[in-house]
Amino acid sequence: MTEKKITGIHHITAIASDPQRNIDFYTGVLGLRLVKKTVNFDAPDVYHFYYGNEIGEPGTILTFFPFGDIQKGRRGKGMLNTITFSVPLSSLEFWQKRLKNYNIISQPAQQRFDNEIVICFADPDGLNLELVFNDKDLRTGFTYGSIPPENSIKGFYSAEIWEEGYELTAGLLMEQLEHKLIAEKGNRFRFAANDTPGNYIDILCLPDSLRGIGGNGTVHHIAFSTPDKTTQKDVRAKILDRRLNPTPVIDRQYFESVYFREPGGVLFEIATAIPGFMVDEKKDHLGENLKLPPQYETHRKEIEKILVPVRLNVA
Ligand code: ZN
Repeated sequence: MTEKKITGIHHITAIASDPQRNIDFYTGVLGLRLVKKTVNFDAPDVYHFYYGNEIGEPGTILTFFPFGDIQKGRRGKGMLNTITFSVPLSSLEFWQKRLKNYNIISQPAQQRFDNEIVICFADPDGLNLELVFNDKDLRTGFTYGSIPPENSIKGFYSAEIWEEGYELTAGLLMEQLEHKLIAEKGNRFRFAANDTPGNYIDILCLPDSLRGIGGNGTVHHIAFSTPDKTTQKDVRAKILDRRLNPTPVIDRQYFESVYFREPGGVLFEIATAIPGFMVDEKKDHLGENLKLPPQYETHRKEIEKILVPVRLNVA
C-alpha cells in the first residue's frame, strides 16, 4: 500500500474578538487544552491561540486569531461554517446540562447519519459549533479536571463547508487530496481521507444562501494534514496540476504550510504533521508562555507591550 499523502484534517483556524473570552470558552467551557500561545506570524500584534488534545495532534487542533473589535462575519456559501467536536454517546446528558449551566443555548439533539446524535450551539462570537455523540471514536480526550475524562472532547468529528454545488470541491478532494465520498443524505455529502472521527468533511449544497463574509465568528481556513515536507511537495504539485494557485511553502514553526483557495472559495491549507507543538515547550508546559518564532523573538518586549495579557482560568 502506498503511503497516504493526505491523512485527514490537521487544524481549523477561526477569527474571534476578545482573546480572554476566547480562552475562557474553549478551555473553561469546552475543556480543550491551550497547547500554544503565540502571535499571528503575519500580524504579530495579534495573538494566535491553539487548542487541542493533550499534545495538539492533527484532527484536534482549533486555532484562533482574536482580532479584537473588528467587523462581525456572516456565514454563507464559500465558507466553512460549522466545526463539530467528537464526544462519547454516553455524555449527551452531561453536555446538555453543562451548556445550560453556562447559559449557552443549544438546539435539541437530532440524529444525523447512523449512530450520530448532534447538538448545535455557538461560541461567544457566534461561530457555529456542534457536538457529535458517537461511539466510534477511539481517541482519548484531554481534561483539565472539571470535565470527567469519560465525557471530554476527543477532537474534531467533522467540518461543514457550504457550497453553491458540491462537484468542484468534491473533485479536488477526491482527485488531489485523497478523499473518498463515504456518505450522503439530502444536500449533505461527506468526504474523508481517513474514515475516522476527526477527518470528515461535510459539503452542504446551499445554492440559495448568501456568500459568507469573513470577520469575527467565522472560519478563516482549514488545513489538511500531510506527513512531511516530501509528501507536501507532491501534494503541492497536484494542486498546481489542477490549475489552482498554491503559495510557496511557509514555515509556521509547528508545521509547514501551503495555502490555496478551493473552487468554491474556501481557503485550504496543506500542513505537515511534524514537528508539532513540543518543538519549543515540554508536554507538561504546553501553552503556558508566550512563544515567538525566531523572527519575532528580538522584538519580544514591544510585542508583549501591545498584547493584552491573558490567563488560563481552569480550576
Ligand atoms: Zn492554518
